[in-house]
Amino acid sequence: MSKMKFCQGNKCHTYTTKDRLKGYKGSKTYQTRRRSSFYYGGDNFCSLNCQNDWFNKYGDLAIDHFGRTTEAKHLTEENAWVKRYNYRGYDNSPDEHYFNNTITNEQRPLTEEQYRDSNYTLNIA
Ligand SMILES: [Zn+2]
Repeated sequence: MSKMKFCQGNKCHTYTTKDRLKGYKGSKTYQTRRRSSFYYGGDNFCSLNCQNDWFNKYGDLAIDHFGRTTEAKHLTEENAWVKRYNYRGYDNSPDEHYFNNTITNEQRPLTEEQYRDSNYTLNIA
């Protein structure tokens, strides 16, 4: 049984849905949603609305805290390898797996096992 936690949306309690309305007659309040897990924002928000509310209020502070990007980052040729495959099931031949360099468009063969291994890469960094 996982632990219950609250949505981190700063306005969650202001959305007037039936599931947020709690308490006894005469003292009901709309409350922040509480769940064992959430679908949004790394398991922190009950909805995209709540995630956006939080980001609109705290996003700039968070970016400044963790480091704002102030110049372009570069994906170089040595790190531009992605895994691809051609589906061949229609004529009963095996699928063709390969690396493709998204900059040079060079292709290199890959076994299906290497394709499925998320640690296997040609990228350097
Ligand atoms: Zn919420």
